[in-house]
Amino acid sequence: MSPPPKLLMQNTVSVEKRLLKEAERLHENMRHLGYSMNECLLFAPQTLRINELKGQKNAVLLAHSYQRPEILFGVADFMGDSFGLSVNASETKAKTIVFCGVHFMAETAKILNPQKTVLIPALDAGCSLAESITAENVIELKKKHPNVPVVCYVNTSAQVKAQCDACCTSANALKVVEAMPGNEVIFLPDEYMARNLQEKTKKKIHYWNGTCIVHESFTADQILAYKASFPDMKILSHLECTPEVVALSDLAGGTTDMYNYIKASDAKRFMLVTECGMSDLLRARFPQKEFINPCSVCPYMKKIHLENILEALEKEQFEVNVPEPILSRAKVSLDRMLEIGK
Ligand code: SF4
Repeated sequence: MSPPPKLLMQNTVSVEKRLLKEAERLHENMRHLGYSMNECLLFAPQTLRINELKGQKNAVLLAHSYQRPEILFGVADFMGDSFGLSVNASETKAKTIVFCGVHFMAETAKILNPQKTVLIPALDAGCSLAESITAENVIELKKKHPNVPVVCYVNTSAQVKAQCDACCTSANALKVVEAMPGNEVIFLPDEYMARNLQEKTKKKIHYWNGTCIVHESFTADQILAYKASFPDMKILSHLECTPEVVALSDLAGGTTDMYNYIKASDAKRFMLVTECGMSDLLRARFPQKEFINPCSVCPYMKKIHLENILEALEKEQFEVNVPEPILSRAKVSLDRMLEIGK
């Protein structure tokens, strides 16, 4: 039996009110990025439903800084870089983690929380760095450089992590390399990060030839052209950029390093040599600063959107699992990182 017309009208009015309120919340957070109220009204039904489902299913949503603004500002419980999210994942009390990032990040969350259900909204959210190396490649490297400790960037599969002595992120890579015993380190899979680290450490670094398709696309000529147009601008680049780009930068580090640098700086204008999502995030956080944007989009990160997050929660898909003994062995290298990173 359908509800009486008066009740139906009251329900419709209250739904419209909720949608309007939600759109206003989104607009408040995203207007600095150029989002109109009409665009926020389009997102509102999905962000409302996702937030409702999170509560009903005791789920927490972790979003990497490179995710879309409507995810970061609409539905994320935590946002940040892979290291920060790893820590959030290990501390959350929620039963389910929905990881809005790429596959190796969801695996990392699972390794740190084997008793929790970890979902990733898009199974094909990969990473050019993580896919550049296999566990067999690491075994070969270890044979080539016997007794040399292996540090792997967090952008690796669980199988690769299981073959390493310690994991690291861009925020703590140097600290982890320096903490390894001996004068040599195998660092993988990012060649540019390894070469950038080589500039800062006396240890001999043996590296792999993986690259990030987003960060390798920036060139020194491009940076010099921007520098000529905006001489007062601070240039912040990611450690995954080429050493030539890093050499022209005021800071080279991870996404959290960039945030902290801008927060502490009196400068008014910054150029972020990284993924576009990070520029969006910082533009929203620091509306009084100006950001010059040569940003590049990560096609893997952008596989995630509100529609597949909603589907992930409704259908409880796609579950990420890491089998034993890979999980326990990979956890040793992650624990080592967390220990050193303290
Ligand atoms: S930005 Fe680069 S390192 Fe990060 S997920 Fe995309 S391809 Fe991988």
